[in-house]
Amino acid sequence: MKSKVTGLILAGGRGTRMGRVDKGLQPFREATLAAHVLSRLAPQVSMVAINANRNLPQYQAIAGESPVLPDYLDGFAGPLAGLQVGLQFCPTELLLTAPCDSPFFPVDLAGQLYAAMEAQGADLAMAVTMERDLEQPEAAPFRQPHPVFSLMKTAVLPQLDAYLDTGARRMEGFFNTLRVAEVLFDDSAAFSNINTLEELQHHERAASAAPPPPATGPATVPATRDGDPAALPVEEARRRICERIAPVEATETLPLLAALDRVLAADIISPINVPAYDNSAMDGYALRGADLPANDTTTATATATFKVIGIAYAGHPFTQAPQAGECIRIMTGATIPPGCDTVLPQELATAIDGDQVTIAANVVRAGANLRRAGEDLQAGGIAIAAGKRLRPADLGLIASLGICQASVRRKLKVAFFSTGDELRSLGDQLDEGCVYDSNRYTLFGMLTRLGCEVIDLGVVRDDPQALEAALRDAAGKADAIITSGGVSEGAADYTRNIMALIGDVAFWKLAMRPGRPLAFGKVQTEQDSAWLFGLPGNPVAVMVSFYMFARPALLRMMGTESTLPTLQARASETIRKRPGRTEYQRGIVSTGADGAAHVRLTGAQGSGILSSMSEANCIVVLHHDQANVDAGQMVDVLLFDGLL
Ligand code: AMP
Ligand code: MG
Repeated sequence: MKSKVTGLILAGGRGTRMGRVDKGLQPFREATLAAHVLSRLAPQVSMVAINANRNLPQYQAIAGESPVLPDYLDGFAGPLAGLQVGLQFCPTELLLTAPCDSPFFPVDLAGQLYAAMEAQGADLAMAVTMERDLEQPEAAPFRQPHPVFSLMKTAVLPQLDAYLDTGARRMEGFFNTLRVAEVLFDDSAAFSNINTLEELQHHERAASAAPPPPATGPATVPATRDGDPAALPVEEARRRICERIAPVEATETLPLLAALDRVLAADIISPINVPAYDNSAMDGYALRGADLPANDTTTATATATFKVIGIAYAGHPFTQAPQAGECIRIMTGATIPPGCDTVLPQELATAIDGDQVTIAANVVRAGANLRRAGEDLQAGGIAIAAGKRLRPADLGLIASLGICQASVRRKLKVAFFSTGDELRSLGDQLDEGCVYDSNRYTLFGMLTRLGCEVIDLGVVRDDPQALEAALRDAAGKADAIITSGGVSEGAADYTRNIMALIGDVAFWKLAMRPGRPLAFGKVQTEQDSAWLFGLPGNPVAVMVSFYMFARPALLRMMGTESTLPTLQARASETIRKRPGRTEYQRGIVSTGADGAAHVRLTGAQGSGILSSMSEANCIVVLHHDQANVDAGQMVDVLLFDGLL
């Protein structure tokens, strides 16, 4: 189902009730409202797009690689205008909408709407709740539709176009032209939206007072079918972690070249128009559009001949305005000479004879083939929004503005150590019953790739005093601490006591494989504090838990967010999977003869088998509710490239 659905976040409104601020960009739980909606929508769909009409660079920063689509209709025409552009873009057969100001909607919204749509053969499935009138609690509850939470067939676009052509703009009106399935949800709070800044602040305060389940209802922890109802689903653990973590504030200003891969701390404002002047997009002839032969079908054979009076090169403008019937030979990137408003690409000239250029009617439109001053960026506009991790293109963009430095967040300091009496460091003799410590090497690699400053604290013995000393030391040196080993049930007793002694750390059993145990919380000494991620000891479990839990949290501390690069691939073989837990299997994805992505497993999937991790180029994600996968079915994969 997921592969058939594209998600669309509706953020194109005027935000009138918030005093015309851009709702989606309002800060909410250490991110923005739109980012929250995105993080809830993304796991339910194959890809997401954002519909926005203002502050496009900021929305682009939230969207990452996903597109940001402005309305095609003018004048903030409402949700249907957003829907129209979403359907025009939608590459899949279904589109799911969610508004940017409702961050609490159900995590299985897509699945529930899809089931009803299929069962009823509908064009569109819409969420509905039953509400009571607070003034008249005795009165019967009434039906409240939520048209902005709808799943629809992309094929309804022509009907929407026709509806909008009549000048109508109401969602309900449009829905009346379709076969609609209504899906009753019992948690009405899940669809509540935030209308005013006061409401937003109210939700913010509620969040900091008690880390609440978002209003998906009291049962935010779905029961697992893993035989262990106490096991925490992966999504829930990730949410609990990210909810507590805030970005590290400190920033520094770096020369541009040193800012690669760093997180931008302040918006880059363009000091100039880019391009700075109108220039030619083609090699050809600059002329006055009014001199062109009339673009008129009755005179389609008409031509006009121009006299070439000079040449404009990039960097060498030609400053004389042409008279009627004159043109200037012009190269790509050259300033448009005064008086000219059109460029004829040279290959479209009917004839060129010495300094005479003949042009036929209908080959070029007045105003064509110019790059206008400010067309790329306007002076004073935001070129790159804070929070973006600077990639090569960003360095180039900043340089194109003549800016030679950038304000970035300081590097995150992350300390790590391994625990276990059986561990030996490289160079030591491998005694009977011992293993070389490999986790510190994988952690070093993963943290370095993430752009952290790493602090390697070595191996710590299975001994309460040693563990306490190591945690205190780490809290003094780092923003976050990553440990491996010692958190599984057998081992955790004394770890738990020590961590309780110097911090506030929760020990979770997760509904996942590999990597069932996880400790997370804050280590607090008299002077210092740091976030602790206690990862399991098994080498594969360490990596998987790092990617799933530590990575998003560390990115958030770094002041940025990143979704994982996922892809859908066809399973080459049957994959066994028990519903009720998330499984991560090592896979090799490749392009098949049909041009599509295919994935096979690397063989033995034991959580200690690091060789299969080394051999793999992706992780196959088998979601919580998923069961056995047949050969030929599509599965989600996380690519290591981009992740590592
Ligand atoms: P634990 O969670 O401490 O019970 O460890 C689980 C398994 O992972 C045991 O087989 C350990 O020997 C192994 N292990 C723990 N830490 C490391 C490490 N740093 N390098 C390699 N293997 C480890
Ligand atoms: Mg151990």
